[in-house]
Amino acid sequence: MEKPIKIIPLGGLGEIGKNCLVLEYDQQLLVIDAGIIFPEESVYGVDLVAPDFTYILERKDQVVGIVLTHGHEDHIGALPILLDRIRAPVYGTPLTLGLARHKLEDAGIKNFRFFPVEPGGTLHTGPFSVRFVHVCHSIPDGVGLILETPVGTLVHTGDFKIDQTPVDAIPTQLELFALYGKDALLLLSDSTNVDKEGYSISEKEVGEKLEVIFFKAQGRIFVATFASHIHRIQQILFLSRRFGRKVILAGRRLEENTQIAQKLGHLHVPQGLIIPLSHMRDYPDDQLTIITTGSQGEPMSVLYRVASGEHKQLKIREGDTVIISSRPVPGNERAIARILNQLFMAGAHVFYQEISPVHTSGHAHREELKLILNLIRPRFFMPIHGEFLHLVFHSQLARRLGIPRERIILAQDGDVVELTQDGFSIAEHLETEDIMISGKGIGDIGPQILRERIRMSRFGAVVALLLVDPQEPRLVDEPRIIARGLSEEGEAMENKLKELVEELIAAEPHLLRDENVLKEAVQRVLRRHLGKSLDRRPLIIPVVVQVK
Ligand SMILES: [Zn+2]
Ligand SMILES: [Zn+2]
Repeated sequence: MEKPIKIIPLGGLGEIGKNCLVLEYDQQLLVIDAGIIFPEESVYGVDLVAPDFTYILERKDQVVGIVLTHGHEDHIGALPILLDRIRAPVYGTPLTLGLARHKLEDAGIKNFRFFPVEPGGTLHTGPFSVRFVHVCHSIPDGVGLILETPVGTLVHTGDFKIDQTPVDAIPTQLELFALYGKDALLLLSDSTNVDKEGYSISEKEVGEKLEVIFFKAQGRIFVATFASHIHRIQQILFLSRRFGRKVILAGRRLEENTQIAQKLGHLHVPQGLIIPLSHMRDYPDDQLTIITTGSQGEPMSVLYRVASGEHKQLKIREGDTVIISSRPVPGNERAIARILNQLFMAGAHVFYQEISPVHTSGHAHREELKLILNLIRPRFFMPIHGEFLHLVFHSQLARRLGIPRERIILAQDGDVVELTQDGFSIAEHLETEDIMISGKGIGDIGPQILRERIRMSRFGAVVALLLVDPQEPRLVDEPRIIARGLSEEGEAMENKLKELVEELIAAEPHLLRDENVLKEAVQRVLRRHLGKSLDRRPLIIPVVVQVK
């Protein structure tokens, strides 16, 4: 019987983020992307979430390569975690590898092996041949993949849009998709914007809108955008030059990314255009553009600090123009609204996507998705890169274009899809558990820790300290209660809780014989009291110390 190819999404199906897809043929694995996702509730101290790489780690000697489609965090952010544990060659375009290199060096990872492949080029590893197809996206040097495997041709669009007038004048290489991808066995396609009608607007059109704003602006212009959106930055640089403005890059990431992009020929920086922040005072307001990060309202970002008045050198004043040139990532809307309010309050003219087309998405809308489907006419179709509802919408779109229901693979993270020329099955479902990253700790936070953090952040914590003489057994001293984050009535509250513990032990002295039984009983009494009297459920930590 024909051997199947296994397609195993470890991340990115069921969420927009932490993309990672494994292809496996005859015990040889090719990993496509290794990204992270930002958690919705950062209040519990989880900064990033990475996919569960267990399946790869258990087969680490069988990994023939890691292919990166582009340099966004949701595709390369978890590379340091993966390369800390396995050694495998990494393939990507020069800019993607340039950004990834930075990430690995920051994380102290050495001895990685990078193999740059230009768009249009092909790499061979194990049983796979992978052709890179240039695609337009909100970062340059992104690619889709045409993978020749022993089972058949697979096409992976990567994150893409079809922009007929991109800033670098290199449109998505539809001709390569058509030439090498036509009648492919399987198409894996970006579902992010499947619920958006029509075509995405071109990056050039955003430039035209920005031009009008630049034309009218009297004071300084602040533009907040993603540090990796090199083409947006390019347009802002050119507009600034045309309107006689110097440019300040406010943010370390922005400086790093523009340097890498410039070195690799993806960004043209006119001589003398960029000045350091310390030279700002040498120029009048109407000769300055300030590019910042923080378009997502991130609390430590430059824009946040500027808007809240915390930035030392940059303060918003009346007459400034602020352009938020990005779209809120779902979950960040409140944080961005707060910044917008502060900017308006400070007297700035503010432009953002809802009121002015100062941003366009890097992901294909419905008509573009249809075009790819019709160009490839795949035998099987698998929507990727989307929340589950996006994957369902994309499946429905494919059916309307004539792909029968039984050839559509609606998979989720952890599914092991086995595909042959004749059909597919979901052979197995892996139980996966995301890797949480908190500060410098990787993977040391599980559901238990998260539950504790949630409790503490909502209700505070109570420590009950009991000194026990195990010989008698008896309490050596009266119990001590320390409550934090629970109530303003600290001492009265602590005294009440202390009494309850004393009453408990007076009534049931046998509890002192067994430390664990004692702890549970103390927890139960305090929990019941706080639940009844305050309707609060703090984390209760009984500590028993044996004193001889
Ligand atoms: Zn992307
Ligand atoms: Zn993505």
